[in-house]
Parts: sequence; structure tokens; C-alpha cells
Amino acid sequence: MSFESLGLRAELLRAVSEKGYTTPSPIQLQAIPLILEGRDIMGGAQTGTGKTAGFTLPLLQRLMESAKPDNNRRAIRALVLTPTRELAAQVEESVELYGKHLPLRSTVIFGGVKINPQIQKLRNGVDILVATPGRLLDHVGQRTVDLSKVEILVLDEADRMLDMGFIRDIRKVLALLSKDKQTLLFSATFSEEIKKLSNGLLKSPALVEVAQRNMATETVTQVVHPVDKNRKRELLSFLIGSNNWQQVLVFSRTKHGANKLTESLIKDGITAAAIHGNKSQGARTKALADFKSGKVRVLVATDIAARGIDIDQLPHVVNFELPNIAEDYVHRIGRTGRAGNEGEAMSLVCVDELKLLKDIERLIKRDIPKDIIEGYTPDPSIKAEPINRGRGNQQGSRKPGGNRASSNRNNPRSSYQGGSGNQSQSGNRSRGSSRAA
Ligand code: AMP
Repeated sequence: MSFESLGLRAELLRAVSEKGYTTPSPIQLQAIPLILEGRDIMGGAQTGTGKTAGFTLPLLQRLMESAKPDNNRRAIRALVLTPTRELAAQVEESVELYGKHLPLRSTVIFGGVKINPQIQKLRNGVDILVATPGRLLDHVGQRTVDLSKVEILVLDEADRMLDMGFIRDIRKVLALLSKDKQTLLFSATFSEEIKKLSNGLLKSPALVEVAQRNMATETVTQVVHPVDKNRKRELLSFLIGSNNWQQVLVFSRTKHGANKLTESLIKDGITAAAIHGNKSQGARTKALADFKSGKVRVLVATDIAARGIDIDQLPHVVNFELPNIAEDYVHRIGRTGRAGNEGEAMSLVCVDELKLLKDIERLIKRDIPKDIIEGYTPDPSIKAEPINRGRGNQQGSRKPGGNRASSNRNNPRSSYQGGSGNQSQSGNRSRGSSRAA
């Protein structure tokens, strides 16, 4: 199934392909045609499933197809409500990204920042407004926003908005909107309150759901996902979200890298904590306890920090970067699937790390299957670069693992597949698990 077959217009297909996506995710496959038909949607989907593009793409198309209200004056025709600033900012980025070839304008408003620049932007005219409920009502109070022309309303992460006590604000906003609008409600869970809210709001909604992951019961599987370095973070969020992994240990090569990765996961709506030598003992103990209790889904660790912690038998271990020392790979993946428990160890490998991968395959005396996730195919024009091993440990330093920096430089870049390693049928193994079940 391709994006083309979903009936999206050329400008949107172009934006999607520039972003590098080739295959719609399950939620996109289901939701896009229904939204294009004008249906209301009740969507059960978490962050990471691709839901943002799932509603943004057809929303943009609907706006292009419906006539602008009176004599070309811009009016807010689509409103997206989100629980947090971060999510609001992220959704608006997606609107900009997917709409970049269309003559539509969008802006984002949330609290905690000055209101005047937002007023100015609203005055200039926007078609799509992404907002958190509280600040939106401030604008309503100041009459700096007019919601009477809204044709499409999106409630994103509705359950979180209710958890955060926004129900009254939401109801106030709803009272200002036309009854004829199309409404798209997304929520990870469907509590009684969500059902109550949707009953009065949605008109014969289509239920769109991404099934929960049904874990395979084999032993540990090892896999390499070839991916460009600068797309690893995005891919990791996508894998965690679309497969609905709840407990993932991620290995990072450097402390700084661990911090940055943790921040980026949190930004993507995935709870995460970092554990490494620069953290106080208290912080490390807390991170570990939160991870074990399920309060945080992802623990990002450096090798040294991970060695001192007593966790194993985890369902998922991810090598965000391969270790410099091949033996560390064996220690890392030993954290998963012991004693007959199922487990999955995957490595995100960029062109710079092919030499490290070869060393590992030599050590374990087998090739690890390669699986390119659709939409994350490595760019063949990118050449291998020396691996940055963090501050004070630069290229040429003589750490165990040798001076790989220089030997990497001349790696043949098409050798992701290793010796006899097969490239499995693109991408479906990982994402398919959320599709199955
Ligand atoms: P979301 O659930 O909307 O937060 O999306 C999660 C991540 O998946 C984001 O980083 C998106 O950029 C990425 N993504 C969305 N749709 C696709 C797709 N069809 N193929 C590959 N990646 C995608």
C-alpha cells in the first residue's frame, strides 16, 4: 500500500516523499480515506504510530478542497487541540511540513509565553490553528481569535487533556464551534469520560484503531536496522510507538548522547530517563526504579552505567549505537530474553558503524539479519565518517576497540548486508507486529 493509493493530492505526496516516507503506517491507512470522505473519527492510537500525519494530511487536503469563506479573507478553518505545549509545537511542525507546498497558513498558541506575538500572527490570518485549551480561551476572552468558521476540529491525545483537567475548557471551546464541523478525536485509551465527551460531539464516528502489540513468543531475535545517523532518533521513537513497547533498554555510546536521546524521546511523548556516570547516585537509583516499575518506558544507558544495574530479561534491548568493543554487544543483548523468555535485540546501524558491525558478527560467528524499515532507507550518497566518541575521547585516542575512526573512513558504503546477511522483506517485521493481532 502506498500513499498514492490513498487519494492524496500531489502537493501532499511530494511533501511525504521528501520526508522519506514510502508506506503509510496502519493508522494512516485506516484514517486517511475516512477523513477524506468527511467522516468523524474516533481514533485509538498512541504517539509513535504516525497518527499526526494520519490526521494532518487529509485535513490539509479537505481545506484545499472546501471553498474559502467570504471574499478570500482568511479565517481559522481547522483547529487542533493538544494537552501540552510540546505536542502543540510538534503538531504544528507537522502541519508546516506536510503543507509546505500548499498555500495554507498555520500557527501554534500555548501558554507560558507572551501573548502579543500570538495575537499578531492570528491577526495576519491563519487557516490552521494548533493550540492548548487554556491559552486558546485567553485569546477567546480577549477576542483575538474567531472560531466560528472552524470546519475541522481535532482533539489530539484527548485522554491526556481530560487527565490534565481540561474538560471544562474543552467544553467552552466546543460551544464556540459550528455544529457542522468534522471532528477527529484521538486517544490512547477510551475511558467512560472520553466516551461521554465523544457521544455529544462525534456524528456516527468511524472507529480507527491500531491493535496492541502481540508479542512473538520465540527466543531472542537479533536484528540490524540500517539507517542514517541523523534519522536514528526518529526511527527509535517510531519503533517504540508503533510497536507499543513498554519497557526498552537503549544503549548509547556517550553520556551526552544518552541525554540528548532521552530529551528527544520525551519530546516525542515517550517517557524516558538516562543513566550514566555523570548522574548522581540518587538520580540513577530513581531512574532505575521508575523504569522497573513501568513509570518510564525507556531507560537510556551507557555501557558502564548499565553494567552496575541489576536488570535483565527485558523484552527489548536497542543498540542506538554499536559499542566500540564487540564484547560489549554480547553483554548488552544478554539483557534480554534469558531463560526462555522472549526478547528482541536490535541495533540501529549507520554507515559509520559498518566496521564495528563486522567485528561483532565475527565475534558471535554469525551474520545478524538486516531489516530496512520502510521510510528509513539509508541515503547511499552518505559517506562513512569517523565515529565521535564523546568529549575527551576523540578520534585517534587509544581506547580498547582500536583506532577505528580512520579505518571507517574508507568503508564500502553498500556493505550493510555483511557477509551472507540477508536483507529481509523491508520493514514489515517490526512494524507488522502492531498491524497483526
Ligand atoms: P506520531 O505518532 O505522529 O508522533 O509519529 C511518530 C513518528 O513516526 C514521527 O517521528 C514521524 O515522523 C514518523 N512517521 C510518521 N508516519 C510515518 C510513515 N508513514 N513512515 C515512516 N515514519 C513515519
